[in-house]
Amino acid sequence: AYLDRINTVEDKVEAYVNVFEEDAIKEAKRVDEKRAKGEELSELAGIPIAIKDNICTKGTKTTCSSKMLYNFESPYDATVSDKLKKDDLIILGKLNMDEFAMGSSTENSYFKKTKNPWDITRVPGGSSGGSAAAIAAREAVFTLGSDTGGSIRQPASYCGVVGMKPTYGAVSRYGLVAFASSLDQIGPITKDVKDMAMALQSIVGYDPMDSSSAKIDYPKYIQAIGQDVKGMKIALPREYFSDGIQNDIKEKVLEVAKEFEKLGAIVEEVDLKTTSYALPAYYLISSAEASSNLARYDGVKYGYRAKEYDNLLDLYKQTRDEAFGTEVKRRIMLGTYALSSGYYDAYYKKAQQVRTIIKNEFDQVFNNYDIILTPTVPATAFEVGAKIDNPIEMYMNDVCTVPVNIAGLPALSMNCGFDQKGLPIGVQFIGKAFDESTLLKMAYAYE
Ligand code: GLN
Repeated sequence: AYLDRINTVEDKVEAYVNVFEEDAIKEAKRVDEKRAKGEELSELAGIPIAIKDNICTKGTKTTCSSKMLYNFESPYDATVSDKLKKDDLIILGKLNMDEFAMGSSTENSYFKKTKNPWDITRVPGGSSGGSAAAIAAREAVFTLGSDTGGSIRQPASYCGVVGMKPTYGAVSRYGLVAFASSLDQIGPITKDVKDMAMALQSIVGYDPMDSSSAKIDYPKYIQAIGQDVKGMKIALPREYFSDGIQNDIKEKVLEVAKEFEKLGAIVEEVDLKTTSYALPAYYLISSAEASSNLARYDGVKYGYRAKEYDNLLDLYKQTRDEAFGTEVKRRIMLGTYALSSGYYDAYYKKAQQVRTIIKNEFDQVFNNYDIILTPTVPATAFEVGAKIDNPIEMYMNDVCTVPVNIAGLPALSMNCGFDQKGLPIGVQFIGKAFDESTLLKMAYAYE
């Protein structure tokens, strides 16, 4: 049924880079046989899902929507892919994204531009635009995305679905193609909050293959579903309701706060004065790390290689010039500059110091509150092409989401209404580190 759905809507939505039609049917039959034999199966066995194309899947391509990796097949599975395969979930295909996860609209893909299923003249957000659009268009039961500065939550908001960036360290990054290693985190996109609890459970956990993976006892998230929210303390940070935020978004998010008051929660305004520093710190840190991480694409080890070159250095240069898109080149240049001697202290080190200050301010708020409630994005989905030539305007999309990555916290975005054009509006719940359960409990109570 899901493959039929993909065939029906995909020429309009273009969420997938690759659909594994034959493999998916074969896998489904294999799970059916297991079931018929009475073999023990996981709770999610047989469920059709799809994965962002920067997460490695053995035996099929992982392109990062880049010309650089157009033919790359990873020799191993990412830990999350391995977990899902072991639990007998069925991988329908790989999803479109901004090249190397850099972008907020999925327009930076080398292959295609994914459309927003609510209005196909508009972008689905990004960089996990394929992952969010596929859920909005019902082309998978759940999908995986990655979130470095908002790439799960922003497209989830644009597409009216549920997206979660888990705490840094809760989901293994082994086999996630690195963009900015200190910020990257894999998470699910689902149609509702209960699905989110189950999808999250299927991918969290300690992994010795990821040095930043957290060795803790992970809770049973499903237990959070249906719990009472009476007495929960919610912080509304003033800085997230400033002039830069679309009015009907502010109104809808404040209505969410009112709903919680009706349910017996306590809502109070707070200050998060460092909010405006998060975006510049993010673009410095993420570009610096990206410039280092992307140094490995030289035409020798992976993917694309230039056809004509004079010598080894020229091979590197020609390959990188021909196979990286404009935005990726921009980040590499920015990051290389910020890390170069003489500038390191002024930019990279300064950004790292700002990072600590931002994290401390969040910690202080969480001394007195259970969650922070904000808009997910400053504006609803924009038209295809509207911001592609204006990088700064594109980066502004991330003001409400990047502070969370900077601080390593978990956050969930879900729909809370529609604007005057009928486009989905998202509300963001930010939680304490490793307290995904509270986010799910609050989100489910609102839903
Ligand atoms: N839009 C942000 C960027 O372009 C976030 C990307 C992400 O989270 N992968 O860097």
